[in-house]
Amino acid sequence: MDVERSQRLQKLPPYLFADLRRRMREAQAKGVKVIRIDIGDPDTPTPDPVVAEMVRAIQDAGDGDRHRYGCDRPVAAFNEAVRDFYRRRWGVELGADQIVGTMGSKDAIAKLPLAILNPGDVGIAPVPGYPTYNIGHVFAGAVTYQVPLRAENGFLIDFDAIPLEVRRQAKLLWLNYPNNPTTAVAPREFFERAVAFGRENDILIASDAAYTENTYDGYASPSILQADGAADIAVEFFSMSKAFCMTGWRVGCMVGNASAVAALNTVKENIDNGTLRAVQSAAALALRQAETLIPPVNEVYRRRRDMVVDALNANGWALSKPKATIYVWAPVPEKYAGDSGAFVADLLDQTGVMVTPGRGYGQWGEGYFRISLTYPDDVLREAMDRIVQMKM
Ligand SMILES: *Cc1c(COP(=O)(O)O)cnc(C)c1O
Repeated sequence: MDVERSQRLQKLPPYLFADLRRRMREAQAKGVKVIRIDIGDPDTPTPDPVVAEMVRAIQDAGDGDRHRYGCDRPVAAFNEAVRDFYRRRWGVELGADQIVGTMGSKDAIAKLPLAILNPGDVGIAPVPGYPTYNIGHVFAGAVTYQVPLRAENGFLIDFDAIPLEVRRQAKLLWLNYPNNPTTAVAPREFFERAVAFGRENDILIASDAAYTENTYDGYASPSILQADGAADIAVEFFSMSKAFCMTGWRVGCMVGNASAVAALNTVKENIDNGTLRAVQSAAALALRQAETLIPPVNEVYRRRRDMVVDALNANGWALSKPKATIYVWAPVPEKYAGDSGAFVADLLDQTGVMVTPGRGYGQWGEGYFRISLTYPDDVLREAMDRIVQMKM
C-alpha cells in the first residue's frame, strides 16, 4: 500500500526546488555540463585538529561512556567550551541551566515549537528566511505570521509593522543575523529592540546564530544575549556547522532563557537522544581553538565573495560586498523582475548554472537569487564566466 500522508506533511509548502531539479536532470540529459552553486554546505574540510580530537575520543577505551546516548551523558567539556566561548566572544555569562546541546540547529529549530507552541498558536518568522522556522510551526500545529524583510530596511525586521493582534497572539518570533539568504547583518541596537519587543509582548525571541562566525573585513557579529535582559526573553541557536565546516557532524547548542532550554531538553529526551560523545568532544576542541581555526576558513570565503561580487558588478550589477555569511544575494536582471523562478530556469537552460531563486525563501524573496560560495574557486569562476555571458 501507499501510506496516506499526515495532514502535517500535506500542509508543508510546495517544494519549489522540485521543478528546478527536474530541469537540471533534463539539461544534463541533453549533455549540458551543469554547475551547481546553489547549496550552502561548506566544501572546505573540517579543520584537522577537530578531526584528530574526534578520532582520539572515539578510540578512548578509558571513556566507558563513549558509546552511550549523548543526551543522557553530555560531555561536560562541550558545555564548558560553549560557556567559555560566549564569555570570550561576547562577554556573556551562561548559567549551567542555560545551555542545551543540539544535533546541529535545524533539528532543534524544528523542535522548539513542539516544546512551547500549542495547535493554533502563532509564531512569527521572517520572509525571505530559512524554511525550517515555518516547518517547525506546521509540525506543532501552529500558524506562521510572516514578517517581511525588505531591502529598504536593510533586511531587518520592522517590529513596529507587526500588527497589535499578531503581537497579542504570538508566542515565538524567529530572527537570523547574519542572515540567510539576504546576507544582512544586524547592529547591537537591533537585538536590543528585539528583546524589548519580546518583553513588551511576552514573545520568546529565538535568534538563529548560524553565521555569527562567518564574517569578513573585520566585522564581528553581536549575539542577542548581549542585550540587556535578553536571558529573560531570548534563546540563541549556535551551530558548529558553518563556523567550523562541520555540517555533517550534527552538533550545536541552544542557549539563553532557562525555561525554554529545559522545555527543549524535554522534547529532545523524548525524541533524539543527542549527539555522539566523541563529536561533542571534537566540537569542544573546535570552540576552544576558534580564534585560530576560523580565520583561515573565512579567508577562503572572502576571496570567493570578492571574485563573485566583482564579476557581477563588472556586468551591470551594483552589489556591495556582504560582511558575513557564505552567500551572495543579488537582484535578478530587470527583464525578470518579479519572476526569480523564470530567471533561474533560463539561466540553467542557457548556461547550465544552477543558483537558488529568491522565491524559494518565501514571497518577499521574489526578485532576487542566491549564490552559495561553498564551491571550489574554479567552479565558481566558471559559473560566473557563464552567467555574465547570458543574454539578458
Ligand atoms: C545552515 C543553517 C542552519 C543550521 O544548520 P545545521 O547544520 O542544522 O546547524 C540554521 N539556520 C540557517 C539560517 C542556516 O542557513
